[in-house]
Amino acid sequence: MNTIYSNKINLFTKNWLSLLINIEKKSKHIVFAYKFAIKLKKIIIMKPSHIEHIGIAVKNLEESIKFYEHILGLKCYAIEEVKEQKVKTAFFKVGQTKIELLESTDAEGPIGKFIEKKGEGIHHIAFAVDNLEGALKKAELKGIQLIDKTPRKGAEGLDIAFLHPKSTCGVLTELCEDKNK
Ligand code: ZN
Repeated sequence: MNTIYSNKINLFTKNWLSLLINIEKKSKHIVFAYKFAIKLKKIIIMKPSHIEHIGIAVKNLEESIKFYEHILGLKCYAIEEVKEQKVKTAFFKVGQTKIELLESTDAEGPIGKFIEKKGEGIHHIAFAVDNLEGALKKAELKGIQLIDKTPRKGAEGLDIAFLHPKSTCGVLTELCEDKNK
């Protein structure tokens, strides 16, 4: 084989080799980027420690307390009015979880409207989380519709925020952080 011809073949092979190596390198990057994207999807936005409470809308707080005390045998340990939310609340404890009965103090308030539309029943579910503010920011980045963009004060001095039922499988979802614990 003449030398020029052999050199040309060598150069041709070399070029192909470097091209193949480049493609391999790029595909490794693509695989890495893909894996990273998958990981991103798996990033945990919040990890509730427990169900803090279940909010139940009732027409008459006093009457409803009777069922929880006399039939279920739970003790009502607090009654509190949350003016900002136009409700009067009664609390019971079942293990670490509370039952929060909500009676509207104003027909135009959120519980008043809920009862008018749906009647008495479960109004919301509340999860206990750490770093509520951070959880809200991350949830919003993930496209979750927030009712409260920043935490506000709820019953029992907890910081609370609601997520819209449109983003939470139809259940009004509350997040709570107890900064006094
Ligand atoms: Zn609540």
